Amino acid sequence: MSLEGQVALVTGGGRGIGAATARKLAQEGAAVLLCDLDPEPAEEQAAGLREQGHRALAQALDVTSKSQVGAAVERARSEFGRLDILVTCAGLVRDNLVHKMSEQDWDLVVDTHLKGSFLCAQAAQAVMVPQGSGRIVMISSTSALGNRGQANYAAAKMGIQGLARTLAIELGRFGITVNVVAPGFIETRMTEATAERLGISFEEHVRRFSAQNPIPRTGQPADVANVIAFLASPEASYVTGQVVYVRGAP
Ligand code: NAP
Repeated sequence: MSLEGQVALVTGGGRGIGAATARKLAQEGAAVLLCDLDPEPAEEQAAGLREQGHRALAQALDVTSKSQVGAAVERARSEFGRLDILVTCAGLVRDNLVHKMSEQDWDLVVDTHLKGSFLCAQAAQAVMVPQGSGRIVMISSTSALGNRGQANYAAAKMGIQGLARTLAIELGRFGITVNVVAPGFIETRMTEATAERLGISFEEHVRRFSAQNPIPRTGQPADVANVIAFLASPEASYVTGQVVYVRGAP
């Protein structure tokens, strides 16, 4: 699998799954623009990649802003000459049972995940269609199937699956594939926050999950990044509109 000469934009690239994805794509040869709400960790990641001889830059980006998304895609194109791969990892959670969930927390979560994925894909396809090729990988979650305390997040994550399948239908004729990776429990700041909400230590959260999962461990960001890299590669040119669960379970 080689991504030599390709250009990738990764949202949420400063931390967790986004950072691991940026690293993997860079290791496979892609130039990467790491975008994040907080530019500092994204810049740290990019600097680390540059030290290893990769082409990487960082960009501040709030994925809910159409103008900022447009500017980020334009930066990737102007700095690296094209845009071949978009991976939308930006995300957050604001969990609560439905009777306590505020309208603000509903809007923030749905806007970040669902509107953010739409805006990024819309801006990216404007560059990819004239190129006649492109790979878009969006991040859903096992929570899309329903998860207590996550009405906002589950709705957004299932919405992403419908969005991706629709874009796959619209964009296939232009050589663009659109797929979804849906992780289970991956060890990041997000699952640390879940442990906090449940009132248990992170170690206990990991232990309980691992004890009942068919593959008896939690996932690492690299487990997700490896699947994303395949879907972003030329080898995956006949795979589109699919949802791949990365959860150590059926
Ligand atoms: P993470 O470590 O918290 O990373 C998420 C990143 O997204 C953070 O750097 C965050 O920036 C950034 N972000 C938040 N809002 C943003 C916005 N409006 N614009 C741009 N960037 C924004 O969490 P993660 O676990 O790697 O999550 C990555 C993706 O995987 C998310 O879509 C998440 O829903 C999904 N996922 C994770 C798991 C899991 O178990 N970890 C499971 C299923 C799906 P700041 O740090 O500056 O806030």
